Order: sequence, then structure tokens, then C-alpha cells
Amino acid sequence: MVKTKQAKQPLKVARRRSKIHGNGVFALVPFRKGQRIIEYTGPLISHEQADEEYSGDIESGHTFLFTLNEDWVIDANRGNHVAKWINTGCEPNAVAYVHSERKKKPDPKKDRVWIEALRSIKPGEEIIYDYGFDFEVKYTPKLLRTWACRCGSPKCTGTMLKGKKVKEVMRKHPNWQKGR
Ligand SMILES: [Zn+2]
Repeated sequence: MVKTKQAKQPLKVARRRSKIHGNGVFALVPFRKGQRIIEYTGPLISHEQADEEYSGDIESGHTFLFTLNEDWVIDANRGNHVAKWINTGCEPNAVAYVHSERKKKPDPKKDRVWIEALRSIKPGEEIIYDYGFDFEVKYTPKLLRTWACRCGSPKCTGTMLKGKKVKEVMRKHPNWQKGR
């Protein structure tokens, strides 16, 4: 009998409603620290194509694009892969790692993304990884609010955006969350 891929890898996560935001992905089995949880898959498109087709994403506060590398973006708008429903948060229990081919000159098209456990995860826990969004646009209080984070962690910064530009906006606009 031919074993299918599905039979070898029983579902370890499931999509459910999340308290954080819309849908989320939850562990069905325990995961050890460092263990691979699920692969983030989807068709690859170029950055130019992503900019053309999804230029409104930054203003909308919602995207299913995953920057794979300098050449390629995973377009999870197409297809129905569970990993795209994983939420971001300020206290992640998982991380997205990009693995390249083990060759001298790895083909960027063959890079693969695995969501891996940052600590041990119990069944029923929501899987969270830091999206690490870094947009090449001017950051404003409005942009931070558009990408609001509602992860509920005591460490929540209030926005999904991270980095220097975010800190600058927060310093200049201490009431950025209230629209000032
Ligand atoms: Zn948060």
C-alpha cells in the first residue's frame, strides 16, 4: 500500500476562532522547544508582483504575504494553508525560520519556512509567532493603530509593527493609541 503524505503526518494543529483576532491556529498535540510545528506554504510571487497586486495591504492592516527572501514572497492569499491563520503577538511561543537548500549556491526559490516552537507548547495553546513586520513606508500613529496588536500579553506594545521606526513614533506621539 502506498502511504500518503497525509497519513505520515497527522494534523498537529487546527484553525479555530481566536480571542486575539479572527482565526487562530491551535496546538492539538504537545510540542517540544525547537520542534517544527507546521510549514508556511503557498505559491511564490516576486516582490514586484506583490507590490502590484497587494499595494493596499499596508493601509488595510491585513496581509497574507510572507517575505521569503530578497527574491520571493509567499502569497498565502492563494490556496488554503493553515499556517496563514497563525496570529502574531508580543509574547510568541513560536518562530518562523527560513531554511535554505544545503548547497553552496542555494536556489532562493527552494527556501522553505517552518514555524518552530520557541518553548514547549501544550495542546490547546494558540500558536503565536512574531511577524516581524518592517514596512518601507513612513510610520505614523495611524499606521501603528491600523496594525494594532490585541494579543493580551502584559508585554503587549499595542501594535504588530516592530523596530526603531515604531519606537520613534511612540516617543513623539505618547498618545498614539488614542489618535493624537
Ligand atoms: Zn501584543
